[in-house]
Amino acid sequence: MTYGGVEAGGTKWVCGIGTGPDDLHALETFPTTTPAETLARTAEFFKQNGGVSAVGVGSFGPIDLRAGRITTTPKPGWANSEVVSVLHDALGVPVAFDTDVNAAALGEGRWGAAIGLDTFCYFTVGTGIGGGVMAGGRLVHGLVHPEVGHVRIPHDRMRDPFAGACPYHGDCFEGLASGSAVAQRWGKPSEELGDRPEVWELEAEYLSLGVVNVICVLSPQRVILGGGVMKEPSLLPLVRARTRALLNGYIARPELSEGLDEYIVGPALGDRAGVLGAIELARMAAGV
Ligand code: ZN
Repeated sequence: MTYGGVEAGGTKWVCGIGTGPDDLHALETFPTTTPAETLARTAEFFKQNGGVSAVGVGSFGPIDLRAGRITTTPKPGWANSEVVSVLHDALGVPVAFDTDVNAAALGEGRWGAAIGLDTFCYFTVGTGIGGGVMAGGRLVHGLVHPEVGHVRIPHDRMRDPFAGACPYHGDCFEGLASGSAVAQRWGKPSEELGDRPEVWELEAEYLSLGVVNVICVLSPQRVILGGGVMKEPSLLPLVRARTRALLNGYIARPELSEGLDEYIVGPALGDRAGVLGAIELARMAAGV
């Protein structure tokens, strides 16, 4: 049995075939264009590489998990796009569907930074902010799926007059702390702001507020912070320190004090977490 994984992002799609990190024998990345063209290219990739027993898709969203489609995305041309039925019709194999961040959480739980844990959160801080949530060994699905990136956090407009970048909410968590927000607030992309400590102090404040909310609601055994913005090396230590200060000793666990370096961590699978998690989704869909 071999499985297909798709990390379906708003700017690029990553397709892979294999059974895990040591067996990922075909991998291709291409830009996200129209739904018809992108899905056709995806199906063609799997056909040309020998076919697969099942496909898993970790998608940008929001998504309707049961209907297998992307719903209210602001990305032009993609609102209400069918994904699962199109791939299933083209390939004739089971197609599993979840959010990109739930897939990445699944991958990190199976092979990466959360092995052996059953309750944790994987954040990606990139163009937007998303959070995949595993609770009691299962990816969280409810009304739809968690939208950790859109929680509300305090916004001190004296310190930070930026109105926020979220098209739905303005200054929600994503609106204040995503890579888009950083770029709009400071006039440069985050990778060009390494020499500006005030950028990272403010960013760490917002990320810590989001992380503390999730710690208080979910009681995760670990928090993983990935995505392009987290590549700034000063950020993770600042987030740990600020999270500890905000919690203020209330939750009496060593993980939240001297063990914080092992509690708030980067992803172990790096940029492959999404596609590997999608392969794990496919394996589950195949019933293996
Ligand atoms: Zn929002």
